[in-house]
Amino acid sequence: MTDIGSMTYSELESYMLSLGEKKFRAGQLFAWLHRKEAASFDEMTDLPAGLRARLLAENGPLNFPKIRKKLVSKLDNTVKYLYAFADGETVECVRMEYRHGSSLCISSQAGCRMGCRFCASTLMGLSRNLTPYELLGQVYAAERDGGRKIDSIVLMGIGEPLDNYDNVLRFLRLISDEKGRNLSLRHVSLSTCGLVDQIDRLAAEKLQLTLSVSLHAPNDRLRQELMPVARRWSVDELLAACWRYEEATGRRISFEYALAEGQNDSPACAEELASRLRGHLAHVNLIPINPVAERGFSPTDQRFVERFRSLLEARHITATVRRRLGADINAACGQLRRGAAAGDTSPTWRTTNV
Ligand code: SAH
Repeated sequence: MTDIGSMTYSELESYMLSLGEKKFRAGQLFAWLHRKEAASFDEMTDLPAGLRARLLAENGPLNFPKIRKKLVSKLDNTVKYLYAFADGETVECVRMEYRHGSSLCISSQAGCRMGCRFCASTLMGLSRNLTPYELLGQVYAAERDGGRKIDSIVLMGIGEPLDNYDNVLRFLRLISDEKGRNLSLRHVSLSTCGLVDQIDRLAAEKLQLTLSVSLHAPNDRLRQELMPVARRWSVDELLAACWRYEEATGRRISFEYALAEGQNDSPACAEELASRLRGHLAHVNLIPINPVAERGFSPTDQRFVERFRSLLEARHITATVRRRLGADINAACGQLRRGAAAGDTSPTWRTTNV
């Protein structure tokens, strides 16, 4: 089976030639896939019916995600999608509206094998990687459903993007292709739990995307309690890779720090964090941890979140507190997918079928 949705423009040209077609057909097909965001070959009305039938036979139906569930926040129009792919795998995707435009948070894998202690997405392990076209499809399906384009993308949904490196890289090249969706990588952020070797690979690509690193703790002892990946690489090794990334790309690194009551939210933690980040182009995103039933962490009270932020600012580290969007539909990330696997028993679930 071929996967034409994941092919680059030049690969599609070679493919058309190999089918005995003219090269310009690749242009038409690429535009249908990545500009007009077609969900099926049937929509590609200026391609001859014979070619469409052949593409269908060779490729199977386009693996464009189906919207299995859609939850719309009454508070701020945040939309959460549960998408299903052809093999029944599901992933989550969230569209958030900001003053400067809309942002889409997409998933990079079906499940995750990183095992972070506070995270719902990893509870059932990794099911499989998503293909480049499945990454693109999350964007295209949200744009079709919303009737307008998305302004920015964050790879911060289910999965570890750098654990699916090749497919994510291909996705980045395709989404920014000027013949296709043409989204500048300046409007894309990629969030990682900190796979040091892959951060170095990414730095070498010299892309203009924003790297977000999920740090969550200022030292090894604490980080190892929260994130198994911290046993593989120390905070020092991780930060050294971040600074190499900063050096190679000139881009400011964003650090995610989820505050859990009594775990990583003390003034001493804030001070230690500030001293580790000093002198670099760093930005800290603070977020009160989202409680996940099986995990037993509680979010830090807003007052102490604010205290943490001012301690960082006083040490010249810029920090923002992430605004909570879609609070009424905000099952912590990963929970819709798990609900789907468990047979959907929650009340929110039953009342929001589309
Ligand atoms: N694997 C990548 C991206 C997916 S997770 C990563 O680790 O960065 C996206 C972000 O949500 C990460 O910063 C992750 O640490 C954070 N996160 C996961 N579970 C959370 C929870 N219960 N509360 C707050 N943040 C959480």
